Amino acid sequence: MKCPRCLSALNEVDIKEGNLNIKVDQCTSCKGVWFDAGELDMIDNIVEPVFLETRKIPSKYDQLTPLDCPYCDLHPMMEKAQHPRDEEVIMDYCDTCGGVWLDAGELEAIQRENWWTSLYNLIKKMS
Ligand SMILES: [Zn+2]
Ligand SMILES: [Zn+2]
Repeated sequence: MKCPRCLSALNEVDIKEGNLNIKVDQCTSCKGVWFDAGELDMIDNIVEPVFLETRKIPSKYDQLTPLDCPYCDLHPMMEKAQHPRDEEVIMDYCDTCGGVWLDAGELEAIQRENWWTSLYNLIKKMS
């Protein structure tokens, strides 16, 4: 798969935490992360950030740029979802496959606040 943001290659990255062991795809260049459907749910229990990005969340302009789904064959355009508690965090999710794209920094922001549950519910509600 290719990064929807910068079209660099995505690298499989292991997230290990307790009994949990999932693979996500991380961009080798911009460090954004792709979660297949359900992976965001599984990662819900991770409290400690597994991989931290120190870079800032992309600018509003960058975040609002439409991105194509890297997973689906037809590369449908992903939907935007703004977190209700922090309008700086805008995620992209695919209506077709249920995958979620987080830019570098967004993952950190969400993990720091342990927002996984509300985030996941938000996506469910909007999809
Ligand atoms: Zn990238
Ligand atoms: Zn998709």
